Amino acid sequence: MTRILVVEDEPGIALGLEDDLKMEGYEVEVLGDGAEAARLARQTAFDLILLDVMLPGKDGFEVCRELRRAGLRTPILMLTARTQEAEKVLGFELGADDYVTKPFGTRELRARIKALLRRASAEPAVETYRFGEVEVDFERGELRRNGQALDLTPIEFKLLALFVRARGRVMSRDRLLAGAWGPDTYASDRIVDNHIANLRRKIEPDPANPIYLRNLRGLGYRFDG
Ligand code: CA
Repeated sequence: MTRILVVEDEPGIALGLEDDLKMEGYEVEVLGDGAEAARLARQTAFDLILLDVMLPGKDGFEVCRELRRAGLRTPILMLTARTQEAEKVLGFELGADDYVTKPFGTRELRARIKALLRRASAEPAVETYRFGEVEVDFERGELRRNGQALDLTPIEFKLLALFVRARGRVMSRDRLLAGAWGPDTYASDRIVDNHIANLRRKIEPDPANPIYLRNLRGLGYRFDG
């Protein structure tokens, strides 16, 4: 049974979502308070979280940041009231996977939910991976470039593993911090950038003009290998 946590404080919308998702065969839990939702999401396993932005207790952005900082990888779909670019960017930066703008159609929402669930279940445990001149063996912790073994630090390896698993998707610095350093890290965004610069020197043909590890201004990094 696929379990969805709906965090929405407007009773009309919450009820509509609950009915519609239950009809689709999902098991649904509804909460109207951000702080409660953050607590429940950390205690109980959900397959997806639908998260409204404007909430009592804690707003959706805060909830999202808290969950990602805690290392939770559950897909988060934000429900934003405005189409403002800044809000969208902030959501992605904090680790949301997708968003829909209110008012949304149920068909669009269903499609996005399905896409997110599919993506999450299609993330395999990667053992070896090749891109360009590079071959990574995650099992043995080895990286070769043109057949030549290169040394990666444990953090560089973790970062690379995160990128390979999420290839083609934007990874915010918060997400990289939680994934590679752990949820309670005091490491800063600068440290992420430094390690990525080192990683680029090992995997990019031209580290000054990276083609695999791209920086997306204001959003984070994306691996295109
Ligand atoms: Ca609301």
